[in-house]
Amino acid sequence: MSNVIVYRLSPACDLSDVEVGAIYVGRVQGFAAFGTFVQLTDRLKGLVHKSNVRTDHDERDEILVRVKQIRPNGNIDLEEVILPSYEIKDVVRKIVSTRLADLAGRIGRTVTVMAEIAQIKQTSGPTIFTLVDESGTENGAAFVEAGVRAYPEADLGDIVQVYGQVMQRNSQVQIEIASLTVLSGEEADTVRRQIEEALERRAEPPEIPLLVESEVMSLLRPQLREVAKQIRKAVFVSQPIVLRHHADADGICSAVAIEQAVVSLIRESGGDFDADYFLFKRAPSKAPFYEIEDITRDLDFATKDLVRYGQKMPLILLTDNGSTEEDEPALRQAQVFGLKVLVVDHHHPDAVIDQYLAGHVNPYHVGGDFGITAGMLGTELARMINPAVDEMIRHLPAVAAVGDRSEAPERQRYLDLVADRYTEEECKEMALALDYEQFWLRFNDGREIVKEILDLGPDHDRHVRFVRLLVEGANAMIADQMEATMPHVRERILGNGARLFLLDVEIHAHKFTFPPPGKTSGEVHDRLCRLHPGEPVVTIGFGPDFAVLRSRGVLMNIPRMVRELRTEITGGGISGGGHLVVGSIKFVEGMREQVLEGLIAKIANAEVSVPARP
Ligand code: MN
Repeated sequence: MSNVIVYRLSPACDLSDVEVGAIYVGRVQGFAAFGTFVQLTDRLKGLVHKSNVRTDHDERDEILVRVKQIRPNGNIDLEEVILPSYEIKDVVRKIVSTRLADLAGRIGRTVTVMAEIAQIKQTSGPTIFTLVDESGTENGAAFVEAGVRAYPEADLGDIVQVYGQVMQRNSQVQIEIASLTVLSGEEADTVRRQIEEALERRAEPPEIPLLVESEVMSLLRPQLREVAKQIRKAVFVSQPIVLRHHADADGICSAVAIEQAVVSLIRESGGDFDADYFLFKRAPSKAPFYEIEDITRDLDFATKDLVRYGQKMPLILLTDNGSTEEDEPALRQAQVFGLKVLVVDHHHPDAVIDQYLAGHVNPYHVGGDFGITAGMLGTELARMINPAVDEMIRHLPAVAAVGDRSEAPERQRYLDLVADRYTEEECKEMALALDYEQFWLRFNDGREIVKEILDLGPDHDRHVRFVRLLVEGANAMIADQMEATMPHVRERILGNGARLFLLDVEIHAHKFTFPPPGKTSGEVHDRLCRLHPGEPVVTIGFGPDFAVLRSRGVLMNIPRMVRELRTEITGGGISGGGHLVVGSIKFVEGMREQVLEGLIAKIANAEVSVPARP
């Protein structure tokens, strides 16, 4: 014998879905002298007259009811039924829902939207639900009592059907929620799939050519597009983005280009007027890798924002860092929290970190090298994220290229691209100004000041005056440092013919000021290279427990030398890395002589290639 069919109405159902004679699953809503009110959905209720009540109930109890009649005024008369066994069938209904992107044209009207909850913020007044569908993001406000969470059954990530009036508040569109229903089962799956599929299409980056001809970057296009797509998707679903970058001119240019693209995309896609402030954070990393200190801060903020503001966990994007084994400890922490990490870097990558990444753009993957700077990659990526910022950011690769001393052919192409606006000298000045200003900014991003330096601000003349002043300041301090330092440089000629210069930056350079040890060594190296044109030159600036290396015309692999020294010198406490020919090494103070001599022996064994005379 087949079971009796009992229907369950989905939240989207209305009176036209109710059939006289059919049996439904209802929920007891309340009691009156003449009977019991039963809800068939949040919005549909009927009455079981007391003569038709068969058992005792409490509020919220489930109850089976047969529809006796539907009166002309829409009132539904019900009777309770008791069934020993039955089968439930869901009545799913496709309702006419409004896309969030179309709300602005429906101010004052009542709408139904199907969306995912992207954020739940409890204010001192209403509860604010940030809703996301395939078309955009808007807020809905639900009020039960001041400061009390409305619809506590609704969680972050739930698919909901929201019904309410479209209002305009402070130039922002918002739904005053009259009812919010968490969808489940097939219905939720269908909506989720629709949103997913549409997002997938919407997140697809536009097909645009690179700014300049580049074999390496053409080969990297699929990876760039994939990373761009994931970033666009994060923006569309109101997932916060944390952008970490190396705190030098190249890293800043890369990050600022991406920042302009992401921030403008967030503003375009609706939501709060200040969404770009809490959905996007750019933060410089002092080290050229994602340090434990960085991930600790990022996790601290992310977990607090989740609890306090009901925000999703962020997408992490690393640029000009993130691809070496030094990043692994931090990436392992990110993995524990399920954070998605994307990397856009031009440091020599270690394969071990790819298991932690959801996307990785790196010129070494396609036979290129560090000459393709992070600023070039970041700018091309930014244009894929949002082509609208193209004009604004197209000079950033040139600044990055001169800042990072790129010798790739792309350097000149990017300089040529903007030659009508900036000379090479002006690009160099912007790069120096960035380095100098970041020194004073320390761990701060300096969002607006940095834009001023890169001429993304409102006043070009002020930009010119500001950069001039910063460059003056930087050059004066560099000159001071060189005056104190250069007389203490010691020279050795190595077995392979390279000139090695050694400098103790701890005792022969000003400390805790600009230029810091890395840049001081770089400046010394540049001067020595000019003094010895056409010759291989290596400069080591060392302190008590660290050394920074710069080289020209010596084919070194610093990350590999560091790894070898770590196994060869017991008790050296060695770590470090960087680029192949520009990098740093750390060790314990008591082992400095052994480590430096070991390092020098390796440099003496490296092949030299005579650099071209300028
Ligand atoms: Mn770089």
